[in-house]
Amino acid sequence: MSNLSASPTPQSSGPAIELAGVNKWYGEFHVLRDINLRVRRGEKIVVCGPSGSGKSTMIRCINRLEEHQKGRIVVDGVELTNDLKKIDLVRQEVGMVFQHFNLFPHLTILENCTLAPIWVRKMPKKKAEEVAMHFLTRVRIPEQANKYPGQLSGGQQQRVAIARALCMRPKVMLFDEPTSALDPEMVKEVLDTMVSLANDGMTMICVTHEMGFARQVADRVIFMDAGQIVEENEPNAFFSNPQHERTKLFLSQIL
Ligand code: ADP
Ligand code: MG
Repeated sequence: MSNLSASPTPQSSGPAIELAGVNKWYGEFHVLRDINLRVRRGEKIVVCGPSGSGKSTMIRCINRLEEHQKGRIVVDGVELTNDLKKIDLVRQEVGMVFQHFNLFPHLTILENCTLAPIWVRKMPKKKAEEVAMHFLTRVRIPEQANKYPGQLSGGQQQRVAIARALCMRPKVMLFDEPTSALDPEMVKEVLDTMVSLANDGMTMICVTHEMGFARQVADRVIFMDAGQIVEENEPNAFFSNPQHERTKLFLSQIL
């Protein structure tokens, strides 16, 4: 099989993701305030911050699960506007892994992984199954292919969710607290999968409070509070020398 590394070749040479002056409101509530973020190709960003600070909203805007009202979001050279074709295009390039695995319960693991490649990418079924088995092997659960999600542990289901996203050959992967719904003994197997993906050169934005993971793979850690990016730094400086009171308070609560 050719070129089945996790990170396909980019289409354009600009940043993988760019948010410029992004603002979003839920009704009256100003949830994202002037977010500016450029993510280079291959860069790994960890996003942390208190509950309700807008972390999920920000990453959901990047694949248009949510709409922003002001500012620009550009993914792999394509600006997210109301053009539905572009939104479809961007969704194909952006893999997303949620806290609750969101697998289809009535489909087998293999079918979960082949559904979008067959229907969205128009991949022949046999080829889609080949690709799915490749990525299920990559997340170390090829033997679960014919089971249903309910028959797997939480850690295994989350690894399926990662494999399923990879089957679409995304250019970037977004993770929204992928380990926070897992029993402690399953956290490591999912983080190991994410580390291996990071080492493979995938561009990643990970919302997580797993600070060991952040130290190990993040190029930058971003701290959000009340809809703003309050502070960002490379992990060592971020953890050992936080600048803002809000960051210090947050770190004192989680470390
Ligand atoms: P985080 O992921 O950092 O916990 P969220 O992005 O989920 O934060 O939420 C940010 C804020 O926006 C919270 O106050 C939350 O209650 C609010 N919020 C999230 N989704 C919606 C929605 N669909 N409608 C209205 N308010 C929302
Ligand atoms: Mg969230």
